Order: sequence, then C-alpha cells, then structure tokens
Amino acid sequence: MLEIKNLHVAVDGNEILKGIDLTVKPGEVHAIMGPNGSGKSTLSYVLAGKDDYDITEGEVLFNGENLLEMEPNERAVAGMFLAFQYPIEIPGVATMTFLKTALNAVRKERGKDELSTPEFMKLVKEKAAKLNVSQEMLRRPLNVGFSGGEKKRAEILQMALLEPSLCVLDETDSGLDIDALRVVSDGVNALRAPERSMIVITHYQRLLDHIVPDIVHVMARGRIQRTGGKELAKELEAKGYADYVGEAAA
Ligand code: ADP
Ligand code: MG
Ligand code: MG
Repeated sequence: MLEIKNLHVAVDGNEILKGIDLTVKPGEVHAIMGPNGSGKSTLSYVLAGKDDYDITEGEVLFNGENLLEMEPNERAVAGMFLAFQYPIEIPGVATMTFLKTALNAVRKERGKDELSTPEFMKLVKEKAAKLNVSQEMLRRPLNVGFSGGEKKRAEILQMALLEPSLCVLDETDSGLDIDALRVVSDGVNALRAPERSMIVITHYQRLLDHIVPDIVHVMARGRIQRTGGKELAKELEAKGYADYVGEAAA
C-alpha cells in the first residue's frame, strides 16, 4: 500500500527527515509517536504533497506508483486522505456543499458518475447520522465557528465519504478534548477495513487507548528510532521519550 524508502527531506537547507523507512500493508493501523520537533508533521506534509519541502533522497510508493510525482489532488483520487491539525475555514460555503463538491470531484476522476443532489443527500445523511453530525451543522459554512469536536466530525465525515484506502491523521499537539478524541477514535475505528490502512500520528498515548494500532513507531530526530507492537505505546506512556531525544539516539 505505502512504501517509504530512505526518505530524506530538507526545509530551507536544513535536513529534517534523515532517512525514513516505513511500509504499511493493507488493513494495518500504524501509530507514529514522538517528541515535538521530531519531524512527524513534516512527514505528513510530504505525503500530502505540500510545497516547500525538498526531497533530497529516497522514494515513496503508493500502490506501486511514485507518490512524490503526483499532485495533491491526484493523491486524493488515488485513495489517500490526510487530516491535519488545523483544518481550513471556508466562509460562505456550506459544509454540505463543500463535501458534495469534494466527493464528486474524486468520483469523476475515478471514472464514476457524479452523485445528484438527492443521491448525495441520502448518502451524507446516512454517514452523518453515524458520526453524530447534525443537519444544522451541515448547513453552516465549513469549520467557521466550529468547536474542536465539530471540526473533527466534519473531517471524519469527509473521510467516510471519500472512502480512502490510506488515511493519515496528524493529531500531534492538537490538544484534542474528550469530545474530539472520541469523534476521531470512533470515526477511525468505524472505517477500519481489511483493505484500508491508517497512519495515526500522535504525541499522546491517550488516543491509542481508543484506536488500538497494529504497529507503533517512535520517531525522534528525523528518524524512526524504534518499531514495536501496541505495547510500545504503553511503554512510552510510562517512560516518556527521554531515551530517544538524547545524543545516544542520534
Ligand atoms: P513534529 O510534528 O514531530 O513536532 P515537525 O515536523 O513539525 O515536528 O518539525 C520538525 C522540525 O522541522 C522542527 O525542528 C521544526 O522547527 C522544523 N520545521 C518544520 N517545518 C519547517 C519549516 N517550514 N521551516 C523551517 N523549519 C521547519
Ligand atoms: Mg520534527
Ligand atoms: Mg507535528
């Protein structure tokens, strides 16, 4: 599904990712944990195709294709969904309209018919009900004045509608409140499927009490320092990241 090989990334001449290797197979849920400044968000931005990152070495294959040569929208069409800490606000565009446009754009590129408004309404109602998204919220402009939990609901609803094969969620530092935490974890768990993979990036072990990962990676100083099973998250909760941030971890 996703294969990252020896990925080196620099910003303004400073190397931030220093050789990342990561393989995600269909159906797997991976957690990437690590201290602030270790490069977790940089990795998610590179996967998203954000500008300003220089890939100095390495490659990323998504379903066997060179991801780094794809435009951000091509990545979405190919089945990648990225959720970020700071969702954009779109004044003047109802959440419902935004979601319909996003879904139909992807369907069109995937060679599927666009959904009519009644078809879309039926689908969105069904998915929204499962995620506790109210009809009132769907009429409001996307993210404008939304609470943290509502933003997460809108994002997870978008994810549910687009039916991605790989979801990358960067939740680091976002200080999810209990409501938002539950929305994210219930949403992610509901979307777990044998053909769908997830990468959950988080600073906090707490999220992983709700989204139980198959594989946990510790990232520090631009590298994956350690990989283990779900018990690794528990160990990090108890011991913190001290073992990974000192000179010894370089
Ligand atoms: P994390 O998400 O693990 O906290 P980041 O990927 O946000 O880490 O940041 C990794 C390092 O790269 C930090 O030292 C940060 O200051 C630096 N960095 C990230 N983005 C930029 C940027 N656009 N310009 C300069 N430095 C950056
Ligand atoms: Mg960093
Ligand atoms: Mg981050």
